[in-house]
Amino acid sequence: MIDLHIHTNSSDGSLSPSKVVRLARQADLEAIGITDHDSIDGIGEFMGECRSAGIEGVAGIEIGVKYRLVTMHLLGYFIDPEAVSLGALLGRVKSERVHRIKKVVEKLNGIGVPLDLDEVNQVAGDSPPGRPHVALALKRKGSVESVEEAFSQYLEKGREAFVERYKPTFDEAKRAIEQAGGISVLAHPISIGADCDSLFDLLRKFSGDGLSGVEVYHPNQDEDFQKMLLGMAKKLSLAVTGGSDFHGEAKPEWRIGVGLGDMRIPYVLLGELRKRLERKNSN
Ligand code: AMP
Ligand code: ZN
Ligand code: FE
Ligand code: FE
Repeated sequence: MIDLHIHTNSSDGSLSPSKVVRLARQADLEAIGITDHDSIDGIGEFMGECRSAGIEGVAGIEIGVKYRLVTMHLLGYFIDPEAVSLGALLGRVKSERVHRIKKVVEKLNGIGVPLDLDEVNQVAGDSPPGRPHVALALKRKGSVESVEEAFSQYLEKGREAFVERYKPTFDEAKRAIEQAGGISVLAHPISIGADCDSLFDLLRKFSGDGLSGVEVYHPNQDEDFQKMLLGMAKKLSLAVTGGSDFHGEAKPEWRIGVGLGDMRIPYVLLGELRKRLERKNSN
């Protein structure tokens, strides 16, 4: 079994890459992929630990992108973390994130919620700062009971401390992933909120533009939705992937390897994904 969607403390996960690999070993996984949000900083440690633990590691990333008015998450697999163009794109995302979180804190202060930027930075460490870090900082202070509450009270779109953030376009991110030697996969299409026909049109368009696969197995996608995606993947000849979207304590209900409990992703899917990579590189 494998898990190709895992976050570490290089983004908003709570465990270090080494701890994640240890957990994956305990769960008896054969292969795992690191997919931190907008960050490649954990890849080196992750791949090293995978080698020592005898687990096949996949170097990946999850990039928040926009396509027309829709935002979505694009996964990149088999990427070279040293690649210059990907580094440049992520550098821009990170600095825009830093700027934006400053504005979020100002807005919170403006509505009478005390919070210091340093308190957020303590939670985020070197990771690109995001709203989950702000939420955790508020929870630590006792200003909210839970991360959920921080979002619903202040941080969600439409709430008073919401600030839009910069995202690269789908094409920019896909190109950066390709230039880093990787292939791209659309993450959890459920979150796009499109109906069946629109989703198919979207996938067909992306597939024509070089998207390699679609994430079918994800804790937010139920069996019916998975079946629908499998059908679309087959018609469009897209690779099928999946993972738990593990975040550690930041999202405790999503467990490594098994998601909500019943996820089983066979190793053969990784083999198929590698074939796509080889085909792409030989073209
Ligand atoms: P950001 O990239 O800073 O805008 O934060 C986006 C992240 O916040 C997502 O990846 C989710 O993990 C998390 N998130 C978004 N909405 C919620 C919510 N209502 N409750 C908890 N976490 C959320
Ligand atoms: Zn996350
Ligand atoms: Fe995601
Ligand atoms: Fe994720």
